[in-house]
Amino acid sequence: MHETIFDEVLAGTIPCYRIYEDEWVLAFLDINPLSPGHTLVIPKERAAYLHELSEESSAAIGRTLPMLCRAVMEATGIEDYNVLQNNGHAAHQAVFHVHFHIIPRLEDRGLDLEWSPGELSPEDAEDLLAALHRSLGTDD
Ligand code: AMP
Repeated sequence: MHETIFDEVLAGTIPCYRIYEDEWVLAFLDINPLSPGHTLVIPKERAAYLHELSEESSAAIGRTLPMLCRAVMEATGIEDYNVLQNNGHAAHQAVFHVHFHIIPRLEDRGLDLEWSPGELSPEDAEDLLAALHRSLGTDD
């Protein structure tokens, strides 16, 4: 995996507004916030995509995310927020180092979502379940 700007943030060669740091995780303010308090939470491990992340980093992210959401809520006074995690160009990923956005949602600021739901047919659901269970090794 190539070096990204977040390696420089982690190394301290690029400054950041640091919110939290432990052995596994760093959280800092997004430099181009969608709303005040927009926060990024990154593993220190260098991985481009979520599915590449080690169990240790995944566990550390899982431990810290809710705590950081609470901090963002208290600090900004918001009650609604999105947690966003993009993987791949088509999914709007710009920095290829795993990161979670915590984005406070205000009436006129935050993450704009275009949500176009389809319908899940029983046939599609069965096919997908079979493929997913095969992938997980949980098929009989
Ligand atoms: P994504 O589209 O999910 O890859 O989002 C990358 C995010 O990183 C964007 O919201 C950027 O504003 C943010 N970003 C990029 N460089 C920095 C930096 N040096 N400090 C803080 N945030 C950054």
